Amino acid sequence: MRIRRYAAIIVTYLMFGVSVLSVQGQVTAIKAGRLVDPDTGTAARNQVILIENGKITAVGSGLAIPAGAKVVDLSRMTVLPGLFDCHSHLCTTVPESNRDLFTADMKQSSAYRAILGTANAKAMLESGFTTVRDVGNAGLYIDTSLRNAIDQQIIPGPTIINAGRIIAPFGGQYHLQPERRDLGQPEYLYADTRDEMRKAIRENVHFGARVIKIVVDDQPYIYSVDDIKFIVQEAANAGVKVAAHCMTEQGAKNAAEGGVASIEHGFRMSDEALTLAKRNNVVLVGTDFTLAAAGYLGLPPDIAKQFHDVFIDRLRRAYKIGVTMAFGTDTFFAVAGEDRGTLAVSFIDSFVEAGIPAKDTLKIMTTNAAKLLGVEKQRGAIKAGQFADIIATPENPLENIQTLKKVSFVMKTGKIIRSTDK
Ligand SMILES: [Zn+2]
Repeated sequence: MRIRRYAAIIVTYLMFGVSVLSVQGQVTAIKAGRLVDPDTGTAARNQVILIENGKITAVGSGLAIPAGAKVVDLSRMTVLPGLFDCHSHLCTTVPESNRDLFTADMKQSSAYRAILGTANAKAMLESGFTTVRDVGNAGLYIDTSLRNAIDQQIIPGPTIINAGRIIAPFGGQYHLQPERRDLGQPEYLYADTRDEMRKAIRENVHFGARVIKIVVDDQPYIYSVDDIKFIVQEAANAGVKVAAHCMTEQGAKNAAEGGVASIEHGFRMSDEALTLAKRNNVVLVGTDFTLAAAGYLGLPPDIAKQFHDVFIDRLRRAYKIGVTMAFGTDTFFAVAGEDRGTLAVSFIDSFVEAGIPAKDTLKIMTTNAAKLLGVEKQRGAIKAGQFADIIATPENPLENIQTLKKVSFVMKTGKIIRSTDK
């Protein structure tokens, strides 16, 4: 038995080793007409980026291109780091025919949701999102399997930081019937006592979660500051951060005081709650719904408008107060003529409408997000030592952020995903 296990490990190692060897030594040189550094909000002309074994080895003007290198000519384009979406649900797509999340979760098999995840991951990557934080609603760890399949290069997709099952007070985000209490499973891990919270975190981490997602306040009973502090500490002990879904003012205040890494949505946050988040270095992942996206939720037009206006107002105030923000979309619905990637990038419209300067929006979509996800040393910048997650646009996004909707070149970990106009 033991011998067979070792044999399996050796075979896996050999297979992985071969796939690494096949790309080893090949140098790729990207000629960038303009290279944007989102961290500083600057662009440099005529830069060369050298890439080997999936990583950037050198960046500069007038760099010698080694003989035999594969040259990618983007000299008429603007080149920048890949984008981040910090709030996705790749393994959930609610159909247009019925926008109810509960029903979709009930009706779709895990196999079908894995296929949805595969298609959504590919679409996100093709639109320029090279890293995604997936915050639950992925059945029984379908997200972990999706991440593994991408990491093993079985399918194309972004780097995924996944949450596993969402941890929440009893009921999660559903409204159950007493005789149908199991219908909430397996989407949510109910945790009301400290023991249940600790167990839920450990179970999640064991089954592959790289971040803990909690729902603070979708029931009349909400997680307290002490509950959240306990969860943050337990998660930290396991090496992961906490993302907190907050729909109410009190929920957001509890999360900010409890020291979570990020508040998701937070659309009811007052200036006071935003100031508290800023003081505690809590990042806001605002999922700022555009007017169109609010309509896609199935809301009547006047309600969709109100919903959207609340988001825009909170986005403006968060920017003014100076809360650190990271881009997140929460697009979990199917829309005819759009895919998950085009829908996600359309959320830029809210930032434009709120008057956020392009350089700040770009930072929110790259540098800030990389820090929140804890990958800033590996991804999110075009610098020597970083993985080559690189995209290109026809115009300079520092001048026209809308050009991010026209990403025409995508490279992830040194591999070209797309290089044609969309
Ligand atoms: Zn969400």
